[in-house]
Amino acid sequence: MEKTQKLALGSIAIGILVLGLKYLAYRVTGSIALYSDALESVINVATAIAAFFAVRWSAVPADANHPYGHHKAEYLSAVLEGVLIVIAAMLVLREAYNGFIAPRPLDAPLQGLLINAGASAVNAIWCFVLFRYGRLWRSPALVADARHLWTDVITSGGVIVGVALVPITGWLQLDPILASFVAVNILWSGWRLVRESIGGLMDEAIPEETLVRVKEIISGNAEGAIEAHDLRTRQAGRATFIEFHLVVPGTMSVSESHGVCDRIEGALRKGVEGAIITIHVEPEEKAKHPGGVPVV
Ligand code: ZN
Ligand code: ZN
Repeated sequence: MEKTQKLALGSIAIGILVLGLKYLAYRVTGSIALYSDALESVINVATAIAAFFAVRWSAVPADANHPYGHHKAEYLSAVLEGVLIVIAAMLVLREAYNGFIAPRPLDAPLQGLLINAGASAVNAIWCFVLFRYGRLWRSPALVADARHLWTDVITSGGVIVGVALVPITGWLQLDPILASFVAVNILWSGWRLVRESIGGLMDEAIPEETLVRVKEIISGNAEGAIEAHDLRTRQAGRATFIEFHLVVPGTMSVSESHGVCDRIEGALRKGVEGAIITIHVEPEEKAKHPGGVPVV
């Protein structure tokens, strides 16, 4: 098993432990804010499991049934996460509404807060482990996981402080108000995630700065060709699909023009991670399409 996958399994185990503790903290206190915090952990565990399988699935090489590869499998787990997030936020908002119209004092707030703080400490430690290895192995996915976990630790910290204020101030409605904040936060992170997946599913073009780099690489490595045009790009998970037309002198031999293509393809693969390239070669009378890239 790959080392990043071992860490992913570790994340799932830690997630289940943290979820158990946070649920216990909710049961001990009856606090709606702590309930919302536990529900956020459910999402973390479910996504970690879905992501684990999605990453393995998307790495399966192209086959006769899926000749372009399985990269989009990663978006499926994101869609699942989006659905879970909406359900979790609705559950929290319903409880918050009930708690707001019929507020009730917390049972055993000190024990509950200590349990929840313990769970957050476990999360914080795991967060540093992920950061360390993410940097060491140069894995953007691990670093992103660590960032996400860190925002959870911060949110839980806010919830702990807020719930502690409930028995101190005697203001019972603070608990459902806090829970509503957590629900909105859950919805917001879900929206960003779904937004990203929609971009991938709808074949959104690659980011502008990568597109500029692609054009530079093409024009810098196309010696012998005249022009490149009709450049189209799209992303699927970790794969970046690049296709364009390459105009060459009509008298150039097939082997020569193929050599130019191979050179460009090699440079693109080096410069753009996960590049999958298709080039259509044309004779010079097809030149000067609008939006062409002049080549050296
Ligand atoms: Zn053309
Ligand atoms: Zn070839």
